[in-house]
Amino acid sequence: MSERRLRIAHLYPRLMNIYGDRGNVLALVRRCRDRGIDVEVDELGPGDTLASNAHDLVFMGGAQDRDQRRVSEDLLATKGPALSEAANAGTVILAVCGAYQLFGKHYVAASGEQLTGLGLFDCWTEHPGPSADRLIGNVVAELAGEDDAITLVGFENHGGRTFLGHNAQPLARVRSGFGNNGKDGTEGVRYRNAFGTYLHGSLLPKNPAFADMLIALALGETELEPLDDEIENAAHQAALRLTGRRR
Ligand code: GLN
Repeated sequence: MSERRLRIAHLYPRLMNIYGDRGNVLALVRRCRDRGIDVEVDELGPGDTLASNAHDLVFMGGAQDRDQRRVSEDLLATKGPALSEAANAGTVILAVCGAYQLFGKHYVAASGEQLTGLGLFDCWTEHPGPSADRLIGNVVAELAGEDDAITLVGFENHGGRTFLGHNAQPLARVRSGFGNNGKDGTEGVRYRNAFGTYLHGSLLPKNPAFADMLIALALGETELEPLDDEIENAAHQAALRLTGRRR
């Protein structure tokens, strides 16, 4: 069993880490090691290139507009083509908030400046400007499609409104909260095994079922050994209760 191995790329861990998005990577590492799966994490920052087949799972977190602007050109130049190739080949990718916005076709920032996106996801994002309400609060969403047994909980804080192209598949349906744009009931996007989402929190520590879905997809396995998730499940339940009270 110990030959099972997961190679993770963590993109811009210092610049794109709002709300402790790094906790997602720590959760993946821990859940692998607890099962005896070898796991290694490459942290790739500005100027570092990404090879399309060097990793089984790629993670990138969120940031405010200023940091997104700093990484957007570097992302396109040093990692963009490899990321698109990896996504087309079925590599698992998780892009949270600011990363989700940059993995779409474009992001119009609060200043009105348009940042070109990777176009890996068929979606685009527009920030209506600094005086617009931000979409902030706890979110509960049901995973769309074949994995509809999974409920996601998280926290969102974004000014950008994301709109999905006609053929794009949403990641989840919002039960409570705003999601992509506060209007159409969608949250996030899925393209093959690449996922974009607005959920922070961090997301994976309190959504162990989704964390395991990503690990299983990355390893090409259908089921993973269960772990003792008492604390993780309690966090998940607490988030559900909190959101239920606010509704
Ligand atoms: N700057 C983006 C927005 O406000 C993303 C924010 C974030 O990553 N939390 O829409």
